[in-house]
Amino acid sequence: MAASSTETFLKEAMDMLCLAPKFQKLLMNPLREVKVELPLERDSGELEIYSGYRVQHDTSRGPMKGGLRFHPLVDSSMMKSLASLMTWKCALVDVPFGGAMGGIACDPKALSKNELERLTRTYVVRIAELIGPLKDIPAPDVNTDEKVMAWVMDQYSKIHGYTPPVVTGKPLALQGSQGRKEAAGLAACMVAEEYLATLGRKIEESTFVVQGFGNVGSHSAMCFHEHGGKVIAVTDSSGGVYRGRGLDIPRLVKHKQEKGTVAGFKEGDYMSNDEALAQKCDIFAAAALDGMITGDVAAEMEAKAVLESANAAVTPEADAVLARNGVPVIPDLIASSGGVIVSYYEWVQNLQQLSWSMEQVKEGLTAKIRSAWAKVWNGSKDRKIAMRKAAYIEAINKVVEALELRGLI
Ligand code: GLU
Repeated sequence: MAASSTETFLKEAMDMLCLAPKFQKLLMNPLREVKVELPLERDSGELEIYSGYRVQHDTSRGPMKGGLRFHPLVDSSMMKSLASLMTWKCALVDVPFGGAMGGIACDPKALSKNELERLTRTYVVRIAELIGPLKDIPAPDVNTDEKVMAWVMDQYSKIHGYTPPVVTGKPLALQGSQGRKEAAGLAACMVAEEYLATLGRKIEESTFVVQGFGNVGSHSAMCFHEHGGKVIAVTDSSGGVYRGRGLDIPRLVKHKQEKGTVAGFKEGDYMSNDEALAQKCDIFAAAALDGMITGDVAAEMEAKAVLESANAAVTPEADAVLARNGVPVIPDLIASSGGVIVSYYEWVQNLQQLSWSMEQVKEGLTAKIRSAWAKVWNGSKDRKIAMRKAAYIEAINKVVEALELRGLI
């Protein structure tokens, strides 16, 4: 489990910075951790109790922000790790938020739509005093989408009055933002483009393997494909598909929509997850779940670089193995930052009661990614350290500066 990966990476960066122990103590722990009991009357009439969580890590740079995950593995340590990660991500890409993370330990595939809605609404009732547009703003994450965000907005509004900026990733009809849905995948692709440019290369001359074909994986694969890149293998939890000349990604997206998996796609050969992991390629996009790239997996990888487009996909052991093997990791702090960047724009639009065009959103996203990339790349070159460490150092410095100025301790 990658539950403590953020803490491990954070500690290493803090030690390198020789950060004063008082800041270390403060920032290694969340400022609030809440667990709620969620009774759900199943469609069958049976009562089940689920556990819900919201962890709020730091608020020195603004209200807290982070996803809402529905997954059987959701627990307190996972939430803590991801809430902390959000603090550093928001600081690196310079959006005025601290980190938070929430979730419900459940298997959403085993619940009907009505059950899921009731469960979501009960969760919102239980945490309604903790969230708010200037307190903590949830957003989509694994297994939650704009439909779930609409329920969150509606339930919170029933308690506090109409409040669109309490949650981001909403449907467009409920003051969601253009580009929010594709933001994470698009930004991962932009980061890959920046990285390749530093090597004097382009997406169109490069090959990609994409692990995970959910929101992030599918939108980044689409972007690689549209820029002329060859996506040679794609996997999801049911298997994978390979085509040396490059997969037709728009058709694969259609196949996934119809069948619920990439497996069985006729215009390519079956490929197992393990085979895909060991495929030679320029960039391996880890767009599945946290902790998927373990030390053992990393030892088998033949990619020239790993793009960590899912939060905490690479464990600290894997990170060390990849470093030893000379495989650069483009870390989640930047590679998975597109969602929260466009969430920020959605929040800004909601607060101002304005609506931006797709061009405005993309322009803003590009500017944030380029500026964060310059910090990560230059930091890594100047200090001769891994990109991940450079990203953490930049983020820690920003948070500590805010903390010191506010005098929170
Ligand atoms: N869950 C996404 C992330 O981990 C989005 C968070 C947000 O938009 O607040 O970055």
